[in-house]
Amino acid sequence: MLGFSQTREWVYPQSISGRFTTIRRWTFLGLHLLLLITPWITINGNPALRVDLPARTVFLFGYIFTSSDTIFLLLLLWFAVFSLFFFTAVFGRIWCGYACPQTVFLESWIRPVELWIEGDRLTRKRRDAKGWSFDRAWRKLAKWTVFFAVALFLSMGGMSIFAGVRELWTGQAGPVEYSLVAIFAGFWFIDFTWFREQFCSYVCPYARFQSVLADEETLIITYNIERGEPREAGKQAARDGRCIECSKCVVVCPQGIDIRDGFQLECIQCARCIDACTSVMDKLGHPTLVAYGSIAESEGREVRRWRPRTMVYAAILVGIMMSGGVLLARRIPFEATVNRAPGSLYTVDADGYTRNTFLLKITNKSPDIEPVEYEISVAGLDDAEVLTDAVELGSTETRTIPLIIRVPTSAELERTTPFEVKVSAESGAVVLSPTFKSGAEIGGTGS
Ligand code: SF4
Ligand code: SF4
Repeated sequence: MLGFSQTREWVYPQSISGRFTTIRRWTFLGLHLLLLITPWITINGNPALRVDLPARTVFLFGYIFTSSDTIFLLLLLWFAVFSLFFFTAVFGRIWCGYACPQTVFLESWIRPVELWIEGDRLTRKRRDAKGWSFDRAWRKLAKWTVFFAVALFLSMGGMSIFAGVRELWTGQAGPVEYSLVAIFAGFWFIDFTWFREQFCSYVCPYARFQSVLADEETLIITYNIERGEPREAGKQAARDGRCIECSKCVVVCPQGIDIRDGFQLECIQCARCIDACTSVMDKLGHPTLVAYGSIAESEGREVRRWRPRTMVYAAILVGIMMSGGVLLARRIPFEATVNRAPGSLYTVDADGYTRNTFLLKITNKSPDIEPVEYEISVAGLDDAEVLTDAVELGSTETRTIPLIIRVPTSAELERTTPFEVKVSAESGAVVLSPTFKSGAEIGGTGS
């Protein structure tokens, strides 16, 4: 493959079928369902998957997380980071070959469309080599039109998670959301029509730092030099089970590399070359020369999936999952905050009581359809009188209510008295710690 600054050597990967291609197709289908169908599913009226950034709320399969749940976001980020470490150390670039959106979209949409409109690898290559003609022009135009529709559709699908699927698809989302869809669609269109494998080879940072995460025992795709060499196009090599120089593993490669040259950073571990060589060697009655393996294995050394670094990563992952599980089980599905009402420190009423007015804000984070009733009580203030409305909130509803507390004014009443406001529901209670203010003189108004 030529460098980024050199002339582009266009890659025309040949279609392939086989065991790993089938596994990948099912994986791609699952990922598409997750991206395109999950946002349409509702659980108790709430989306199964939505990241509502303006409301700082995440809906995740029946759970509702708000800005007060940042600990879960942190745990999720750590889980993603250590999963990447663990899976790269054990399985190499499995993400690139099976789950990266670039691979998933190219394999699921772009290559089939290209095959349908422009024909197979050789037809495409020959037509492109001849230069511009009417036949080539209309096919390219048709292909790019479909690519643009696919890019737009996928961008809408991705944005549905953030903007709300019904709002976005019925034209009710805001200009920011549609502008972002246009930007992402533009990015994917350029990637589909031109950038493609260059993204993996030159832009994606993962390819660069995977060499730090992987070691000699990491799963990679390898060519069996011992059995394959010397390669030779002929009957004797076919009988011996050596490489017959058919180049099938090369022409199917979407990265335009030759796996027989050894480990290369461009390899996204898509396993197309395994299926290619398997199809060739099956016919000759020999095992494939290209297979999953490792550097250690190819040097005759033992491969340990559980080695110190993978055990450390796994232990951290288990720790993160257990912490998340415990926090989730103990989580109270509502949040409450209390703040002093603006402009009033305290007031002394005509009946001699000192009054403090607060604003109590409650958000119901329960996914249940049934409204939740909240009781408010105060502790730590002698003879306190609590004046507030009863609160009943539906799922994701937020309400701010005045909370008035009156305490008989007496010589014992401090200027500042810490006390507790307890907001209780069936699922648990939240205890808040504001302070009660009072003045030294009866009949005054605080400022
Ligand atoms: S060398 Fe094989 S596994 Fe690597 S990118 Fe090419 S086809 Fe995929
Ligand atoms: S597909 Fe197998 S036999 Fe054919 S060139 Fe590649 S390694 Fe050799």
